[in-house]
Amino acid sequence: MERVNIPEIFGSLVFGDKVMKERLSEEVYASLKKTIDENVRLDDTVADAVAEEMKNWAIENGATHYTHWFQPLTGITAEKHDSFISPSGDGGIIMEFSGKELIKGEPDASSFPSGGIRATFEARGYTAWDPTSYAFIKDNTLCIPTAFCSYSGEALDKKTPLLRSMQAVNRQAKRILKLFGNEVKYVRTNVGPEQEYFLIDQELWNKRPDLKYTGRTLFGAMPPKGQEMDDHYFGVIKPRVREFMADLDNELWKLGILAKTEHNEVAPAQHELAPIYSTTNVATDANQLTMEIMKKVASRHGLVCLLHEKPFAGVNGSGKHNNWSIETDKGVNLLSPGKTPSENAQFLLFLCAVIQAVDDYQDLLRLATATASNDLRLGANEAPPAIISIFLGDELTSVLDAIREDRPYEGTEDVVLKLGVHSLPRFSRDTTDRNRTSPFAFTGNKFEFRSLGSSNSIACCNIMLNSAVSESLRQYADELEGAEDFETALHALIKRVITEHQRILFDGNGYGEEWIREATEVRGLSNLRTTADAMPHLLDEKNMQMLITHKVFTESELHSRCEIMLENYIKTVNIEGLTMVDMVRKNYLPAIENYLYRLSETIYRMRQVSDNVKCKYEVSTMERLSELTDFIMDAVIDLENALAEFKTIGDVFKSSEFVRDSLIPKMDKLRIYVDEAEMLCSQRDWPFPSYGQLLFSVN
Ligand code: ADP
Ligand code: MG
Repeated sequence: MERVNIPEIFGSLVFGDKVMKERLSEEVYASLKKTIDENVRLDDTVADAVAEEMKNWAIENGATHYTHWFQPLTGITAEKHDSFISPSGDGGIIMEFSGKELIKGEPDASSFPSGGIRATFEARGYTAWDPTSYAFIKDNTLCIPTAFCSYSGEALDKKTPLLRSMQAVNRQAKRILKLFGNEVKYVRTNVGPEQEYFLIDQELWNKRPDLKYTGRTLFGAMPPKGQEMDDHYFGVIKPRVREFMADLDNELWKLGILAKTEHNEVAPAQHELAPIYSTTNVATDANQLTMEIMKKVASRHGLVCLLHEKPFAGVNGSGKHNNWSIETDKGVNLLSPGKTPSENAQFLLFLCAVIQAVDDYQDLLRLATATASNDLRLGANEAPPAIISIFLGDELTSVLDAIREDRPYEGTEDVVLKLGVHSLPRFSRDTTDRNRTSPFAFTGNKFEFRSLGSSNSIACCNIMLNSAVSESLRQYADELEGAEDFETALHALIKRVITEHQRILFDGNGYGEEWIREATEVRGLSNLRTTADAMPHLLDEKNMQMLITHKVFTESELHSRCEIMLENYIKTVNIEGLTMVDMVRKNYLPAIENYLYRLSETIYRMRQVSDNVKCKYEVSTMERLSELTDFIMDAVIDLENALAEFKTIGDVFKSSEFVRDSLIPKMDKLRIYVDEAEMLCSQRDWPFPSYGQLLFSVN
């Protein structure tokens, strides 16, 4: 592998701050910077000047085309390339790119999902430049991060509501900071998403239609060795994987993505990549790009990168940990315990805002992570349960307990703790004994939301988190702004919030059966097990009202989103069902039949030769396999009938319930029989690569 000069290549394909400063006039740079930092509208002449330099820079770096790069509700990114060429009038061309083209684009939007928005309003959508996320070059194309809206102004993408939710946090957090005497220019949320993935051999992948069509294996018996030895986690990285990772790092660095940590994960063939955190919308764009580039780089190495949440049953699935914090323009992390009594009180208030937000909007956080693929992982004794709760750790828990019970906190003065007056202990940032089973854990100076699936965009969960926290902060600001004595009111508020939201705090084992019972029966927390259960809550009155009040969504956007997410769920499972039927009828049954034929032929011939042979192996295998083919046949017919019935249901809510109650159980049943047959059949006859081959093939 060639040596690379990291500082030199880092960000070399990004029209970032350094390039802007170098290439733009002082005036243009200052004006653009104001737009980026403070969300001030950009002047047309400034846009023209930026576009011109952006184009020159892009051409110097090999670009021939440009595209508005956006994130429609399909969950992946979309692009439509235009070249820079324009006729010069003398038969030649000039390379052109105007401010207008930079700011606004009009992709043919009719085939992106809109959940009815464009049908009722207007059939066209447009893309609008998001100057807060830098433009970059990918495949000789200048990519301009954009938002995607309908002409009537409804968001058709994930970026628009994310930016709106960041505005909401900014608005409300500034009100709170003002009460503490802190005037800041802006407040932003930061995210560092840890990305898990599997790498498998491309040739083997090619032989598995289920992986190709659905991203996961729909059949497959467990190999003799899985992950029980715990020998993969943080283990030595195999040479071929290491080469992939080095190549990936290079590509990401060129794009200014702060790829930092790479290690093996729990399951065989599973790995993780974590970047250094950045502003939420930049981190979201970077994560979308990272997923795309992981796949591309893998194929250069004869590998396939699986981002599916549960590519293999029986071994751990892949998640994405969303590390989240709030920061001021001065670089102060508002979730970092402070040094002075006042800083500590401010920290505790922000902490309360998160605790209350997670409790009040458990369902929104849950549904933001709900997909057919992530349903296979959540609550499967390897990932957080579908129940949302918060882990704070011993130290912080005892501080909160002391406040709640008006008790002195050990380690401080021996008086009842009064916020803003007494100092709290310096909380240690030690995060070694963190509770890995909690879906929402405080890890020293940030919260780590762990329910997210590996293939999910991080936009949705951050939209919900930002909005819900804004709502807590709004309530607090309303209350405290009118208070006669700020300190007393603050103390009372914090005490009240901690008391009222005790139920969401849980430091125990989140994977245990016991917790499910306690959470649902004693504490009344919601347990929305599937996408079909979770998604309709987007339209609950309290949720709609909150999201609309903070101007994150409009009512019609919410209806459309709910519909689109449920449609994704339904379509995904439908394709899986059809793929199963196909594989069973075309491959599995004929393969078993072949083997049965050989077995019976053998029995027949052996008996002709000798009366003394028992043919124990042949007969018993034949009998069980034959029985299994009957079960498989019944199960496949059952599934086919369900798939046919499913087509007749029009309503998305009813369809999603049918998927949950009928399709998925029938698919599970079919799989059990086929997997048992795999254990009995000879490997030579088995039509697809086994789990053992898929999981242990990359060296
Ligand atoms: P882990 O042990 O879970 O890997 P790390 O401390 O290595 O935890 O961090 C994981 C992720 O959290 C990284 O992407 C890191 O950049 C990010 N992170 C660290 N501090 C913050 C913060 N203040 N806000 C948001 N993300 C953060
Ligand atoms: Mg983590």
